[in-house]
Amino acid sequence: MVSMERERLDLLISKARLAGAAKVFVQAPEGLKTQLQEIGSALEKAGISAVLSCEPCYGACDMRDAEARRLGCELLLHIGHAGFGQMAAKPALPVIYEECPLEADPSNALGAGMKALEGFRRIGLATTAQYLYMLDSVKRLLESKGKLILIGNGSANGRAKYPGQVLGCDYAAATSIEGRVDAFLFIGTGRFHALGLAAAVGKPVLFLDLENNTLEDMSSEKERQERIRFASIEKAKGCKNFGILVSTKTGQANFKAAEAAKAKLESKGKSAWLLAMDAIAPEKLLGLKLDCLVNCACPRLAEDAAQFRKPVIRPEDVERL
Ligand code: SF4
Repeated sequence: MVSMERERLDLLISKARLAGAAKVFVQAPEGLKTQLQEIGSALEKAGISAVLSCEPCYGACDMRDAEARRLGCELLLHIGHAGFGQMAAKPALPVIYEECPLEADPSNALGAGMKALEGFRRIGLATTAQYLYMLDSVKRLLESKGKLILIGNGSANGRAKYPGQVLGCDYAAATSIEGRVDAFLFIGTGRFHALGLAAAVGKPVLFLDLENNTLEDMSSEKERQERIRFASIEKAKGCKNFGILVSTKTGQANFKAAEAAKAKLESKGKSAWLLAMDAIAPEKLLGLKLDCLVNCACPRLAEDAAQFRKPVIRPEDVERL
């Protein structure tokens, strides 16, 4: 079992104690599930009952508050994600987010990749919650090479909580400084956020990949994704029956956008249905006669769009049909 440092575990237990909860529901993403039993045992040693969620947990939006409440819990401990700056919907019980920074060293990839940054003087930094602690050291390192570094505050109404933090559904920390930079450097792992950032801004995005120790220019991948997106819109123009995907996860609650998309589709002579589910999966749509899907749930669904075997478009693409 990967162990949570003693100090952090003690702090977590005192937060739960302070909240006065007698029974706590604990959630963690797959990579941190190995810590659940340790947290559960520590809570119980402190006289607090613990219920450990075995459901997947994809992000800060993915709160199991309703079922936690049904099981008599008074507090939700959400491990591994930063809390939302602005919550779309009020959870059914108090939530404590316990962030888990991940160790990594950006210096090798950055040193080897400095050539890729040569043409850019003003650089905006962005990252995910796990690597926010790294922003200052990367800033200093780049400043020592003569770069001007900016870190955006995001939007006051946004979901991301910290300066420089981006989420798959909130790139405001980058868009808010886009006019003042020549390029962005995204620090993280996996290509989802780097690609999302490249799609959200009109400036070049370089991806400092902490897993593979590489620095990648996202331009060609951005173009490829745009071609896929526009091909889906073209196909959607000929479709009649639209399923509008809405997640029931407390933090997603994008229902207004879904209703607006339905009304727009109907005004164009299409048939549309609002389809609600927790995690969105192709097998849950079996038996429904649909030609096209509109994703009003997590943008990450785009990565798995091929599994649905029909075009999947964004709510804003409905305007283009
Ligand atoms: S909706 Fe998707 S991108 Fe936004 S916080 Fe949830 S999991 Fe992350």
